Amino acid sequence: MKTQSVAIIGGGVVGLAIAHTYAQAGHEVFLFEKSLHFGDGQSGRSSGVAHPGIYYPTGSLKAILCVRGRQLQEEFCLSHGVPFIKPGKLIVARTHDEVPALEFYRERGTANGVRGLRIITREELKEYEPNIEGVAALHSPQTAIVDAGAFVQKLAELSERAGAHLFRGREIVAIEKRDSQFVLSILNHDNTKDKCSVDRVFNAAGLYADEIARMVNPESLYRIIPVRGEYCRYASAKKSELRIHHAIYGLPQEIEYEGRKVFSSGMHLLPTIGSDTILVGPTARVVEKKDDYEGNRFGKDYFLAYAQSFKPTLREEDLEFEYAGIRAELLGHNDFMIEEDPRNPGFRNLLGIRSPGLTAALAIAEYI
Ligand SMILES: Cc1cc2nc3c(=O)[nH]c(=O)nc-3n(C[C@H](O)[C@H](O)[C@H](O)COP(=O)(O)OP(=O)(O)OC[C@H]3O[C@@H](n4cnc5c(N)ncnc54)[C@H](O)[C@@H]3O)c2cc1C
Repeated sequence: MKTQSVAIIGGGVVGLAIAHTYAQAGHEVFLFEKSLHFGDGQSGRSSGVAHPGIYYPTGSLKAILCVRGRQLQEEFCLSHGVPFIKPGKLIVARTHDEVPALEFYRERGTANGVRGLRIITREELKEYEPNIEGVAALHSPQTAIVDAGAFVQKLAELSERAGAHLFRGREIVAIEKRDSQFVLSILNHDNTKDKCSVDRVFNAAGLYADEIARMVNPESLYRIIPVRGEYCRYASAKKSELRIHHAIYGLPQEIEYEGRKVFSSGMHLLPTIGSDTILVGPTARVVEKKDDYEGNRFGKDYFLAYAQSFKPTLREEDLEFEYAGIRAELLGHNDFMIEEDPRNPGFRNLLGIRSPGLTAALAIAEYI
């Protein structure tokens, strides 16, 4: 195999997983991350749920890479000491109208290769989760929770150990094709500039992947819209009497933007690794700017209403605001888009890598 020089734009979990894979295969790898920290985009601001692959249409990249990725992620975390717990998940129907949707997702998940999905009755739900109200639930034993920050750091560490050159505080600002090479213009954190010439490029720039795609092909029509997900938390499950053992979800939500449907797996109540905190969120709302994490946030009453739909006695005074993340929604496409730029062989775009991208990252790297 001919060794190639490879540039990766973006130091989130996907860029780092690609760096690791290519460096291990003996290629010369350069990864550029504009922030001073890896995982500063979506990767460090997610729920950290290792999804089993229930929601996505059978045969889609999301379905295939999520199922494979969850398995690879579990093996990776266990062999490299990344915190990973498998509490399982309950998608709870709070009214009888919601029960047919549980059956729909059980069938779809099973067709996708998710093992162990089972609909449980109200009585079983009370046994599994005495604190949660509902008329039935879909139980998914494979759902897990990963420490996303530790996962990102471990991928960076292993990539460097395999010989990849990882750079932080380096923003790609222009790309030019010269003969068979791609020349990347880099703006460094200290305002100095550099250039890097490589055989192949992977665009793993998350929210900005549409803008990077246009740098090499101005005719590229992809558009990524920022969909913010905000969180609150019950800092003490014990104090707020919200002890839960599973990740608790309602049914998925759809919001509309410019006449198109934007899917979200919905809000959840989530136990956290190594603490007594329960995370509530994420909301789903289109925002104007790709870096607007704080402006015009939902009030606590919004989170309370959601949490109370599972446990009516919860109190607003126990809720605290938490972080927000912004999803890279590829407008008009519900699946991951992984493709070579039609005008530039050797330049691969990874677009719309939103949930379940954290779960699927290792499978995405394996796939490409
Ligand atoms: C609120 C929320 C909750 C989520 N929950 C889950 C979940 O529970 N489970 C799950 O599987 N997935 C979840 N996801 C999705 C998951 O986080 C993403 O799919 C995944 O992190 C995508 O990784 P990435 O590397 O493609 O993108 P990112 O992590 O966004 O990384 C892209 C990187 O590119 C860098 N960059 C951008 N432009 C440039 C440039 N010009 N030059 C250099 N660097 C650049 C950015 O700074 C960024 O670090 C969630 C996402 C959000 C926002």
